[in-house]
Amino acid sequence: MTRPFTVGLLALQGAFREHAEAFARLGADVVEVRKPAQLDDIDALVIPGGESTTMTKLMDAYGFPDAIAAAHARDLPIWGTCAGAILIAREVEGEGRSARLGLVDMTVARNAYGRQVASFEAPVNVTGMETPFRAIFIRAPRIESVGPEVQVLASYEGHPVMVQQGAVLATVFHPELAKDDRVHAAFLGLARKAHAAA
Ligand code: GLN
Repeated sequence: MTRPFTVGLLALQGAFREHAEAFARLGADVVEVRKPAQLDDIDALVIPGGESTTMTKLMDAYGFPDAIAAAHARDLPIWGTCAGAILIAREVEGEGRSARLGLVDMTVARNAYGRQVASFEAPVNVTGMETPFRAIFIRAPRIESVGPEVQVLASYEGHPVMVQQGAVLATVFHPELAKDDRVHAAFLGLARKAHAAA
């Protein structure tokens, strides 16, 4: 690689700026991705939290689903947070097989942590971290089931909250709001490893 490691943040809607700050603190280059052609010039892609229905409409309008599927097929590391995790799930409960991206073999239920506790924080133990990560959940989807290829890296109350399948990472919480860059560092680590293996 002749240029610095570059993380693309899908910047159609949602919390992408906070991700940019975290990656910048870790010394990665960051670009905001607004056109599918930009996927050719990045080393990893983040699909941020936001509102998954709105994000789906915008992705469709700009032609992102096919472009992301092609990038995934050539092993571009991808991380979805919250709404982004919904978009990369194989299935969304009540909506059937996802017409979105389907990159991780998991079923998610949107807004499934209940109205009263729609947003909350909880310490979660993450594989590879020595102390718990303070996870911020905001109208988070709940991962109801995962397939055999999926590695569960953290759980909360019996449900996975951080999972990995190949070079794809999903978190249903918001690490970019935590003032703790360890999940971003873990994603950079897995992305760099995926490139080294390619
Ligand atoms: N509840 C949102 C949705 O279903 C996701 C919330 C988030 O990304 N913080 O799209």
